Amino acid sequence: MCGIFGVYAPGRMVAHLTYLGLYALQHRGQESAGMAVSNFEDVMVVKEMGLVSNVFDDRALTSLPGDIAVGQTRYSTTGHSQWRNAQPIYRGSGDLQFALGHNGNLVNTEELASDAGMLPGTVASDSDLVGELVAFEMFNGSKDATNPLLHAMQQVLPKLRGAFCFSVMDQRQIIGVRDPNGFRPLSLGRLDGGGWVLASENPAFDVVGASFVRELDPGEMVIIDEFGVTSLRPFDESVVDPKLCIFEFVYFARPDTRLYGQNVHQARVRMGESLAEQAPVEADLVMGVPESGIPAAEGFARASGIPFGHGLVKNRYIGRTFIAPSQELRALGVRMKLNPLTENIAGKRLVVVDDSIVRGTTTKAMVAMLRGAGATEVHLRISSPPYRWPCFYGMDTGTRSELLAANLTVDEIREYIGCDSISYLHLDAMVDSIGAVNAGFCDACLTGNYPIDIPVNLSKNVLESGEERHQTSTIARSLQGNREATSNDTLFS
Ligand code: SF4
Repeated sequence: MCGIFGVYAPGRMVAHLTYLGLYALQHRGQESAGMAVSNFEDVMVVKEMGLVSNVFDDRALTSLPGDIAVGQTRYSTTGHSQWRNAQPIYRGSGDLQFALGHNGNLVNTEELASDAGMLPGTVASDSDLVGELVAFEMFNGSKDATNPLLHAMQQVLPKLRGAFCFSVMDQRQIIGVRDPNGFRPLSLGRLDGGGWVLASENPAFDVVGASFVRELDPGEMVIIDEFGVTSLRPFDESVVDPKLCIFEFVYFARPDTRLYGQNVHQARVRMGESLAEQAPVEADLVMGVPESGIPAAEGFARASGIPFGHGLVKNRYIGRTFIAPSQELRALGVRMKLNPLTENIAGKRLVVVDDSIVRGTTTKAMVAMLRGAGATEVHLRISSPPYRWPCFYGMDTGTRSELLAANLTVDEIREYIGCDSISYLHLDAMVDSIGAVNAGFCDACLTGNYPIDIPVNLSKNVLESGEERHQTSTIARSLQGNREATSNDTLFS
């Protein structure tokens, strides 16, 4: 996750444009927000914990005059949720300055830190590590190059493994990069009236008055400067293998986003239609779990002929519970987030469509709420296959012991959740529903087929040391599939 944005528009209010762009990308990360702005002489950075609207107001934006900007909204996958890890990452030495926003998660963080001889505590996240590596190159080996930032990026990028999209700037240019697998999306847009925009998702273009130009290719780097847009390929051809995260279509991306040329909302509707054909059930009402389950519910209703309606009201001011950074916060979030619409569901047999079940926290509580509000039957239909394997490419799902479907059979899940029936969409039907013919996807969390090997000792706090690190569940344990808890209630409550 994380949202990244960049705008090159001399003479325009780039800080305000970046604010609007980040606002449109808020769903990708809610822990911190920040932007860097250049007036062609200096790079200024403002970043803080919290939502975009908490971090910036008009006064702050007006105090950031400039012509180029990059911004980021963070969701932590490596490194704690703390101010030090807010982005953009900044480094400067005399005239050499740059700021970097990252979306994704590296899998060779520890190896890179060790190879560079970094002492523990030198950097606190994988993004900070990339900043340090680029700074070292830029301030030393690349400082006499015609374009020190570009030269430094070209030295560092081939060493990185994992998921990464970057929006990086110095005083005069923006560099956008998508990793060779293209795990995370990044698109290029053109501003009306002149200028260029980079964003994780294209709805950020609409809000700043830009038009979509194209998605960057996996393994592509673009340089945006006074000469326009230049495209380069900094990675060896042999490592370029498109593997867009399939969960961008299921859950992460906004419904109005286009990926692989396909509209995300339409793909979700088609997933619901397939689900209705795959797992029909007699019921009185089809409802979706707000927000990302709604399009699939519409599709299910359309294909089944069962009326569609709303059964849950979501408090729109609560963040996505699943991406809150701790189990305690997630559990609190569930209780604050959903409320049943009793008048619509009392006495009815419900088909409840959701996009996925990861830990089961939300789902179990929601089914109990629906029954408490008078639903006579609750049939769960999930528009993706069981989520069985941890993600190491940008989603913080924790270890296998935390994943419901890694520990229970589908029937045990039904029993644990407390629903009358449950069915998950098959993987081939999900891929067909997306409609991107011959496109490459990462589906590791569903199949265990990881496109890039994962070090056995990788954990979220890989850069921390000592006791704190031991308290963190490690992937070594998770990949061995150990079932640490024996009580489901202990595991998933
Ligand atoms: S493991 Fe799953 S969530 Fe992670 S990048 Fe792959 S498909 Fe996406």
